[in-house]
Amino acid sequence: MVVFLSSKPSRETFIRSLVDLLRKAETGLSDDVVNAIRKAEASEKSPVAKSQVQAILKNIEIAETHGVPICQDTGILIFFVELGSEFHAGFDLEAAIREASALATREIPLRPNAVDPLTRKNSGDNTGNGIPDINWKLVPGKQLKITVAPKGAGSENMSALRMLNPTEVEGIKKFVLETVTSAGGMPCPPLTLGIGIGGSFDKSARLAKEALLEPLDSPMSEFEKEILGAVNALGIGCMGLGGSTTALAVHVKTAHCHTASLPVALNIQCWANRHASIVFGGDE
Ligand code: SF4
Repeated sequence: MVVFLSSKPSRETFIRSLVDLLRKAETGLSDDVVNAIRKAEASEKSPVAKSQVQAILKNIEIAETHGVPICQDTGILIFFVELGSEFHAGFDLEAAIREASALATREIPLRPNAVDPLTRKNSGDNTGNGIPDINWKLVPGKQLKITVAPKGAGSENMSALRMLNPTEVEGIKKFVLETVTSAGGMPCPPLTLGIGIGGSFDKSARLAKEALLEPLDSPMSEFEKEILGAVNALGIGCMGLGGSTTALAVHVKTAHCHTASLPVALNIQCWANRHASIVFGGDE
């Protein structure tokens, strides 16, 4: 779901728009995700799995009707910012994004999930050192696009990264299947799998996360379809209770890497595949 705001915003409008964006992302799923879950429900043969997918669809409907988060784990807040080289906000964008995150936490409300990694002390408002996670990309043009993708811990915790032997391209599929098999029902299937291949250790993880932003109905390559087929043949099924749909889609992003490396990251996304975007300066 993408919202367009034609003019350049004041700081106040910017913060308010981001709070609205967070509300949109937390209380509803985009059409491509809902349609993929509906398709899974229609094709599912296992009565147990079918009833689970129906429960998920009912959950989505109730959340949208009542304007409440679709899951109790409202995630850690991750922003992807595409900043046009000719867009001049006139205020500190990062500080405003942090303020909007804290305000959204109070207003929607969101579960405060951000803790110090060692003391485990909760900041109380989903902000903290390095959180929200804001990913900046400079692009040509006069627009500012912000995508928010709240990420729950259940699926994030089952994600993995491996530095494969560079001769082991076949090992990519094996790594994905092993990781999904050991995750079982923990990441709340049906899943979307974002796979980052190449770059460096950290770049592959970022590519995997970016791959999760691809619309679920965007065409998949033969390689992506092959992995999806193999994952669904595992029979883990909805919420790990068996069935034909363990994953809804697989998306791969690649980057050139060192000749002696083959980094591969798998970012697992649960059925609550939340993201929403806003574009400022739409008609400029
Ligand atoms: S993995 Fe997803 S659906 Fe499961 S509890 Fe976490 S956010 Fe909710």
